[in-house]
Amino acid sequence: MYFPSSRPWADGETLSEHLERRGVSRRDFLKFCGEMTAVLGLSSAMTPKVAAALAAMKRPSVIWLQLQECTGCVESVLRTGNPSIGDLVLDVISLDYQHTIMAAAGHQAENALQQAMKDNKGEYLLLVTGSIPLNDDGIYLTIGGRTAKEILVDAAKGAKAVIAVGACAHWGSVQAARPNPTGAVGVSEVVTDKPVVNIAGCPPISDVVTATIVHYLTFGNIPELDYDGRPRFAYSSRIHDQCPRRANFDAGQFVEEFDDEAARKGYCLYQVGCKGPATFSPCPIFLWNSGTSWPIGAGHPCIGCTERHFWDTMSPFYKRMPDVAGFGIESKVDLIGAALAAGAVAGVAAHATATGVHQIRERRRERELPIVNQPPSGKKE
Ligand code: SF4
Ligand code: SF4
Repeated sequence: MYFPSSRPWADGETLSEHLERRGVSRRDFLKFCGEMTAVLGLSSAMTPKVAAALAAMKRPSVIWLQLQECTGCVESVLRTGNPSIGDLVLDVISLDYQHTIMAAAGHQAENALQQAMKDNKGEYLLLVTGSIPLNDDGIYLTIGGRTAKEILVDAAKGAKAVIAVGACAHWGSVQAARPNPTGAVGVSEVVTDKPVVNIAGCPPISDVVTATIVHYLTFGNIPELDYDGRPRFAYSSRIHDQCPRRANFDAGQFVEEFDDEAARKGYCLYQVGCKGPATFSPCPIFLWNSGTSWPIGAGHPCIGCTERHFWDTMSPFYKRMPDVAGFGIESKVDLIGAALAAGAVAGVAAHATATGVHQIRERRRERELPIVNQPPSGKKE
């Protein structure tokens, strides 16, 4: 077995023993399990079950294929300034084959892939980042003389579950934008005989990847998915319904230019192109960069990166979005007044409070991590 980690699992070691050896306390491990339980939208009464299942887990086999992509998803999932236990869980399980971070190259790397597939047939978790080019017999991406499609079909055969990480693996992303010269498609268009979990986003939030894996390791199956194969625990709410600038939207307070007074006050970004009303993603709750900030919190409109075909359907990115089916936002935006605001804000707050992941944000607040999305200091609303 090939182990690129400097601290590989010992034979027969459980996750709890392995984390202890790496200096993680039982208290921190339980805190991580509590957070994952909340992220998954489960009752806190389930935390002991999650902890017991994870603690007893022996090293699972994960094969990670990187196909047509920019490696941004790998960076998002694996690189962090402040590694959490979740990062360690990913680190310790993502080791059988990952051609960017593994030391091996060429035939040695190909042999590691074949060996891992053979040794763990029917048991391994297959993670895929990147799209699959199908035009011209798939010649636009070959590794070791095989096309991306051949590699994926072969690896998916023996996988217990398949997780497509990021927009490229989800539906093709920028390579699939019109005119899609390579015929790029997502994993679920090639692997059709088993469910594929789509962790949407360009790139996706690593907490969502970790929680999906924790669900699989705890319950032995994948989490409930939405119509587009995305885990419901993460993608069931619109950015717009969780956004700290929603009160400004409801009050008709909009940024018109990126350097105007409204921008400095942190008003709503709808008029400068925000696609939050048509985008389902947990960004406002999970945040980015170890919980430091997120695009709208930093003053940039959402471009809808968790939605299929967003390069074509959400652009131009800095233009006000057209009417959204079922929402009528374009007609409402100029009419909405402060009188509507109180009720709408109360509704949003109630929704957020009821959301399991909201608890994570509260805990991060308690730990005094920096919280963004507040009006700039010294400014009055
Ligand atoms: S339009 Fe964008 S910035 Fe404004 S409230 Fe909705 S999600 Fe937030
Ligand atoms: S705010 Fe929108 S565009 Fe930005 S990462 Fe989240 S879903 Fe993607």
